[in-house]
Amino acid sequence: MDNLESIANSENPKNIQEGNEMEAKKWVFYFGKTKTDGNKDMKDVLGGKGANLAEMTAIGIPVPPGFTVSAEACASFYENNKQYPEGMWEQVLADLEILEKETGKKLGDPENPLLLSVRSGAAVSMPGMMDTVLNLGMNDNVAEGISKKNERFAWDAYRRFINMFGDVVMGVEHKFFEEQLEKIKDTKGVQLDTELDAAGLKEVVAAYKEVVQNHAGKSFPEDPKEQLRMAIDAVFGSWNNARAIKYRQLNKITGLLGTAVNIQTMVFGNMGEKCYTGVAFTRDASNGENVFYGEYLENAQGEDVVAGIRTPKPISELEKDDPENYKKLLEIREKLEKHYKDMQDVEFTIENGTLYMLQTRNGKRTGKAALKIAIDMVNEGLITKEQAVARFEPDHLDQLLHPQFDEIALGKAEYLAKGIDASPGAAVGEVAFTADDAEKYVNEGKDVLLVRTETSPEDIKGMAVAKGILTARGGKTSHAAVVARGMGKPCVSGCDDIKVYEKDKYIEIKLESGETRKIKEGEYISIDGTKGRVYYGKIPTKDPEIAGDFGVFMSWVDEFREIKVKTNADTPKDCKRARDFGAEGVGLTRTEHMFFEGDRITAVREMILAENLEGRKKALAKLLPMQKQDFKGIYEVMTELPVTIRLLDPPLHEFLPKEEKDYEAVSKAMGVPVDVLKKKSSELHEFNPMLGHRGCRLSIYYPEIAEMQARAIFEAAKESVEAGYKPVPWIEVPLVGNVKELEYVRSIIEKVAGEMEIDKAQIPYKIGTMIEVPRACVTADEIAEKADFFSFGTNDLTQMGLGFSRDDSGKFIADYKEKGVFTEDPFATIDQKGVGGLMKMCVELGRKTKPDLEIGICGEQGGEPKSVEFCYSIGLNDVSCSPYRVPIARLAAAQAAIKKKNQK
Ligand code: PEP
Ligand code: MG
Repeated sequence: MDNLESIANSENPKNIQEGNEMEAKKWVFYFGKTKTDGNKDMKDVLGGKGANLAEMTAIGIPVPPGFTVSAEACASFYENNKQYPEGMWEQVLADLEILEKETGKKLGDPENPLLLSVRSGAAVSMPGMMDTVLNLGMNDNVAEGISKKNERFAWDAYRRFINMFGDVVMGVEHKFFEEQLEKIKDTKGVQLDTELDAAGLKEVVAAYKEVVQNHAGKSFPEDPKEQLRMAIDAVFGSWNNARAIKYRQLNKITGLLGTAVNIQTMVFGNMGEKCYTGVAFTRDASNGENVFYGEYLENAQGEDVVAGIRTPKPISELEKDDPENYKKLLEIREKLEKHYKDMQDVEFTIENGTLYMLQTRNGKRTGKAALKIAIDMVNEGLITKEQAVARFEPDHLDQLLHPQFDEIALGKAEYLAKGIDASPGAAVGEVAFTADDAEKYVNEGKDVLLVRTETSPEDIKGMAVAKGILTARGGKTSHAAVVARGMGKPCVSGCDDIKVYEKDKYIEIKLESGETRKIKEGEYISIDGTKGRVYYGKIPTKDPEIAGDFGVFMSWVDEFREIKVKTNADTPKDCKRARDFGAEGVGLTRTEHMFFEGDRITAVREMILAENLEGRKKALAKLLPMQKQDFKGIYEVMTELPVTIRLLDPPLHEFLPKEEKDYEAVSKAMGVPVDVLKKKSSELHEFNPMLGHRGCRLSIYYPEIAEMQARAIFEAAKESVEAGYKPVPWIEVPLVGNVKELEYVRSIIEKVAGEMEIDKAQIPYKIGTMIEVPRACVTADEIAEKADFFSFGTNDLTQMGLGFSRDDSGKFIADYKEKGVFTEDPFATIDQKGVGGLMKMCVELGRKTKPDLEIGICGEQGGEPKSVEFCYSIGLNDVSCSPYRVPIARLAAAQAAIKKKNQK
């Protein structure tokens, strides 16, 4: 019995698990000839840099050996009150010993010293945000030892080390070192650091040590192991410095463990002749040409290339300077691309004629380069079309469709404030505060940025002529955001650090420093709608470049896509653009938007403010021919493709007159005194207009509106048929929450169709509904009885699902994101659990009633890649978005299909 029991216990999984727990956790991963513990797929643990150093070593590329302390160790360091996890330091010492054996050098040995670089490296690159220490292992004895062979190099490396270590690890400001250096240069009568001889540099070392003593309150550590320990602490510590935290916030980098620490044998590009250091891309990162692209410096350390103190030479010149290593570099270039199957960004150093690779990673590139590289790599047989499509970044397509800032100029620009990235692209112009002023200045030949507290329909003409729009209020679905996206204009909305004084024509900006900055009409500002940032002055922009390759690439995209992409467009011009971008129909025409242009808004106001049925009918009679004309134009551009026309859904606050001149215009048109109109307007005032008298509520209250619109839709269709086009109107009822609402409005439309003897074979119209009220999701089985199609209006569904006003929540959503309460803005990306849960329920219930029910989405999230993937996953037939987002939605839909296929 005892025996049996012990056998059973030995196989007990719990025991096995406990056994594993006994085994010490691996915190440190070696890379070198002796062994290589990591590989490129271990970025989460080793960071991008560490994983690729291991990979390069494993595939036989010359890399100075070393080891990586894992990002898990960094996480544990923070969890344990800044103590190393158990066993980590011992593993560092063990790998150090292997490294010493492999290199034949020893840390701290004056005769044959091992010198180390200690660099940060997280799973996602955060350039320049965290700390680095070079030349670690230098001390008085080591410097003396090295100086016997190369005196100047020894003292130069030592003074660089004290400066870097003092600054990064011991917190002594760089300027104190700089002061001493300048003093010594003065006494020696030289201007450049390079003019200091060994004796001068030795003096600098002594002075630097005093700087450390005076400012850090302790002496510079001579013990190299102590140096190493302090450097690891500093790199771990730099994960949470203010700059790194801000960078992660701005770039939405979440979920990482911490930074890994790469400890690697130093190699020197600054030991004299036959020493070089450089950076290169395996292809041209700005235009994608298949050429080796980079630069290098002779007798220099890596940071000199980046710092821009000396002008580097183009990489092609290395062929003359060091033909052998140039050839080796070209071979490595090819090997890396074949291995990684992507363009690489590499750093290298040549030390006394020996080439070492210090880093490789997928290279950052412009949108133009990304497109060319994708096409070329498929044609070269390096990657498949599927791979090219799957990894193409949606942001790169965005760059191809919108103007961008010149990167270098942007780096030097004066940053003013941050708002919501409402519509992508870069725009520069003189500040104008009203639509009239914007028009006036544009007519004078100026570029204008329209700046408003928030926009309303009156601003449309100003928005149309402006290069971009900046508002102090409003989120991703605010009027400004929706209209700007439709127009393809850059827009930063909800920038609540600015206060707009429209009357006095200036803005006040609360800067990050706490100071206030005033900017007057006519001064230049620049906005980045892709990132939601505002800058002072005129930053040069680059126009979008839709190259010939664009069409080829998009045709590949469509080979994988399984859902349709339609567009939200309100004019024939926008529809044409969207069709050119590949839209397969109109998913939403907001008929109220058709009244933004010219004097039409006055007719809408007449309708809203009419005292009685007769007055309303008079106004509707004015609107009918306008609508008919618009519909005809759209049918003809979109012929044979469905055009979803939504019945009027005007949030009243957007359409009521605001200024005296608006009242005067309506008064003149109606023959009703301004006072009477103002009274009526105040009667119509709503506390929550977005939850007010809009959508189907309007058509039920005033059936004559739906009747006029149905008539315009059918009359236009008839005329289009006569002109030889094939109109496919899908008539859509907004804001339905109860099947009875839909039934009521549907009967009006059907009555008109009957009266007009519409032949469905000729005009295959459908009647469907928006799904944007939570009740509609819960009762979708009933609603489907009366609907030929559904389209999710996720702007309103998010507003009502979360109980967040779509107009006012921008400010606190930004705060939620800053505090980590939300990672995404639910008005930009579908809240998959909540709103997405309602959508799923709706799809299931709707299709229970009608298994083939066509369901799409036309809320602003419909053009956002993660939301597109979600819509695909719950079985929608299409997504619809503004014209400029159509290519991105096509790409996202294809990527979602590829991902699903590969998951299977
Ligand atoms: C929506 O609510 O998602 C929608 C598309 O309609 P609108 O933005 O016009 O309310
Ligand atoms: Mg809506």
